[in-house]
Amino acid sequence: MQPLLCLRCRREIESGDKSVAVYMFAQTVGVKPRQKSTAQRICFCPQCAVSLAMGMPPEGALNMAAWEMIRDLVSAEPSLNQAAWESLRGVIALLGAGNEDSSAANWRVASRRVG
Ligand SMILES: [Zn+2]
Repeated sequence: MQPLLCLRCRREIESGDKSVAVYMFAQTVGVKPRQKSTAQRICFCPQCAVSLAMGMPPEGALNMAAWEMIRDLVSAEPSLNQAAWESLRGVIALLGAGNEDSSAANWRVASRRVG
């Protein structure tokens, strides 16, 4: 099976990972016999889905249709935002693994000062 990649950032999406899938197929109308194409599956990771939904509308009718569908999902409830936030936290924790302790300590000092 071919690995699924996020269309925007090319991050690999493994089965069971949180993601947004856009399915697309074409069908003839008013033509006999009626034909239906195979379906394509396009995937976005949560961060790209949220980022796209929050961003400017894209160019092109197909992109616009996909953008509106993703906006529908992202604006309906916060679970995708939560997933995007969690993976962003994961990346920052990896990048800041060396000085995680000192920044946490600073935060504690700062919050004690406030409280
Ligand atoms: Zn992505």
